[in-house]
Amino acid sequence: MENLKQDLELLYNLQEYDIKIAALRNHIAGVPGIIAARQKEIEDRKADTEAKKKNFVDLSSLKKEKEAVLDAKEKAVAKNSAELNSIKSNDVYKAMLLEIEKAKADKSAVEDEILELMVKMDAEAPVVKNAENELREFEQKMKSEISEIENSAKKDEESIADIEKKREEYKHKVNQKILDQYERIREGRDGQGIVLIDGESCGGCGMVLRPQLINQAQKCHDLVFCDNCSRILLKK
Ligand SMILES: [Zn+2]
Repeated sequence: MENLKQDLELLYNLQEYDIKIAALRNHIAGVPGIIAARQKEIEDRKADTEAKKKNFVDLSSLKKEKEAVLDAKEKAVAKNSAELNSIKSNDVYKAMLLEIEKAKADKSAVEDEILELMVKMDAEAPVVKNAENELREFEQKMKSEISEIENSAKKDEESIADIEKKREEYKHKVNQKILDQYERIREGRDGQGIVLIDGESCGGCGMVLRPQLINQAQKCHDLVFCDNCSRILLKK
């Protein structure tokens, strides 16, 4: 039946539109996930930079604490030294001297700790600065990528509208009954309702077809369906 063969070829062409639309929709559906992943990357990088900043701030607070301790020790040494002259008792004098020596030793230890902290802060300052610069660049890069992805999704939407219009026009060439059947089959079959016979196999599921089925498809008197996936078979 020449007509049926023609109908099936028209249907097969119509399916090209459906496949394109499905691919575009699939692409659009993936966009929110891709954007969320980019945003997560930005957030992770921010958290990392914040941790580096916090480390520096902690060192700086610790230094201030030590400086306050140092100040107190210095004052104590000055106060005790001033009081030395007015002490009459030898024992008290000796005790005071010991106390001053101890405070001086403590002061020296705190000074060493402050120096050590300053060395660490000098090492950490460029680390923080680099992290902040890198974060800024990374954020810009990610944001421009996100806007590219959003633009491409918009273009996909436009393409879909365009293809759907063409499909709508083309669809009238296809026999309505066959079209309805095709629509039913393609649901849940990757959007493919009609497939070519590929050698001896179904072009949809890959199953080797019975020779009788291939023969029937060749003759094309009636619609022929794959035993396995139920798609319409077309022998070109
Ligand atoms: Zn099949």
